[in-house]
Amino acid sequence: MFDVSRLPRLLSRPGFYLFLTGALMALGFALAHRISERSGREQLSALSTERLELYATNLSAELGRQASLPSLLAIAPTLQALMNAPDDADARRAASQMLARVNVRAGTHQLFVADAEGQVLSASEPLTPPARLREAMAQGRTNFFAADPATGSSDFYLLHPLRQPQQAAAGVIVVRFNLAPLEATWVDLGLRSQNERILVADDQDVVIMSSVQAWKYTVLGHADPSRRRALQASARYPQAIGADLELPASLEVHQGQQVKLPGAKPMLAQQRQLVPLGLRLVALSDLTEVRQRAQAAAWGGAAFGASIGLLLLYLSSRRRALRQLTQAQTQLQQAHAQLEQLVDSRTAELRQANEALKTQIAQRLQTEGELLQASKLAVLGQMSAGLSHEVNQPLTALRALARNSIRLLENGRRDAVATNLQLMDDMVERMSQITRQLKSFARKADEPAGGSTPLLDSVRAALLLLEHRSRALGVQIDVDLTAGQRVRAEANRLEQVLVNLMGNALDAMQHEPLRRLRVRARPLDEGRRVLIQVQDSGTGVSETALPHLFEPFFTTKPAGEGLGLGLVISAKIVHEFGGTLRAVRLERGMSFEFDLAVDTTSTMETADV
Ligand code: ADP
Repeated sequence: MFDVSRLPRLLSRPGFYLFLTGALMALGFALAHRISERSGREQLSALSTERLELYATNLSAELGRQASLPSLLAIAPTLQALMNAPDDADARRAASQMLARVNVRAGTHQLFVADAEGQVLSASEPLTPPARLREAMAQGRTNFFAADPATGSSDFYLLHPLRQPQQAAAGVIVVRFNLAPLEATWVDLGLRSQNERILVADDQDVVIMSSVQAWKYTVLGHADPSRRRALQASARYPQAIGADLELPASLEVHQGQQVKLPGAKPMLAQQRQLVPLGLRLVALSDLTEVRQRAQAAAWGGAAFGASIGLLLLYLSSRRRALRQLTQAQTQLQQAHAQLEQLVDSRTAELRQANEALKTQIAQRLQTEGELLQASKLAVLGQMSAGLSHEVNQPLTALRALARNSIRLLENGRRDAVATNLQLMDDMVERMSQITRQLKSFARKADEPAGGSTPLLDSVRAALLLLEHRSRALGVQIDVDLTAGQRVRAEANRLEQVLVNLMGNALDAMQHEPLRRLRVRARPLDEGRRVLIQVQDSGTGVSETALPHLFEPFFTTKPAGEGLGLGLVISAKIVHEFGGTLRAVRLERGMSFEFDLAVDTTSTMETADV
């Protein structure tokens, strides 16, 4: 069973339309062929019927023209006289002369009078009566057909009895027509027209006249041997009965019937009975042209069917394409809407992330500031032990000097007191120098990065801050700098960097036998920049630790001694000055190096500390 719900899917398949096109082509082919052939046959049939009518009229007119001649002659006194005295030679001669005259005038072939036995009594010219005459007379026929045994021509005979009033027939008057001229016109026509054949069959279905000479004296339909022998014996035909002319023996009157003669093309047969003559006229029309036209029409029909199928295919493809287009448009609109939604949500997320980042940056800046300070304090913490020693020592010395001065004053040694006071002043000056440095170091840097700082001063200040440690360790210090060279850096923070680096150097060297700290400056970029190197002869850094040095909280020092922030903060400060801090492994120890811009107004002078 066909499922109706599958129809829309089926209708959207190109294969279905190709199948439909094929079916429409076949249908168009069959229909057009049938219609064209039918109408062609009808036309041909009508034409053929018309012609048949013409031939029939022709033949009837030819025969009917003299139909009344025998009956008229029957009442002629000459012939009456002959009937009264059939053996009278004068009467015969008179009758023959009269018949010859009438024969010429009427245009008939022959006229003769025969007695009841069929013997010729008188004739328009000497003749042998046809073999069928006695049979026809016995049957009381008024006409018959017979072929001339000598010439083979078709002859038609009209008979009329000759009798005395109230008596049986004593003889018969016979009019003979020769149909050869008429047949000749048909043969001529048959030669000229390839499309039409015509034949006349007698009551025995034997063809007695035809436009095709070969068909003459053939039998319509089939004749079995006995019938064939009987026909032969009847002596009605001048020659042997030919092969069967394979036409159906009983053709329907006025109705086109297709027949096929062996070795010939199919033909349309039409038949017309010539009742009074006992003959029938058959016309055979060639169907080739009709068939050719039907063939052409069939291809036309197929083309029409194909064009309808292809049109449907085109329409369906168009509909499908339009549907796909609409679908694509809808999808596009949906995608667009989704995209807009996505963009909106992403924008909102970005805004949030931006806010969060701002907050983080603010927090980070705050933390960084705090860390910077913490690192300083850590350095201060480390230094505090040494510092207290540094301050206590002068204080003890001051106390001793003060007490000594009192005693010297009591002894009146004012010069020695003055020397003591000078020494005390120097010590106080040194102490205040240390505290000043400490104060300035501990102060939180508020000024922006920049400014111009004498490099040597910063190095000296840093060394001073670490002096107690370096002295305690007995470190050899080399400073190789250009005096008066100024660099683009803020003094306090540059100092912080130097204190960090030198502090680390002292840490690294404290257990080493050789302790040497070098601070050097090398010109870079044609003197526009300077590379500051802080080198030590300490333990150095392992290859694996090297990449982690500038990471926050990376330290190898025992807990409480190292924060792991010194290098991170130093690198950040140098970066703010526009330089880069790097760690380089030396054969013995480390070199921490950073570059700074040179203040070009600085004076060139080498100094050693
Ligand atoms: P901290 O000194 O608090 O540990 P730093 O950031 O200043 O933090 O230094 C990190 C680490 O780098 C130190 O723990 C040490 O291992 C190494 N380091 C720094 N300077 C030197 C140096 N001059 N020689 C050897 N190791 C060093």
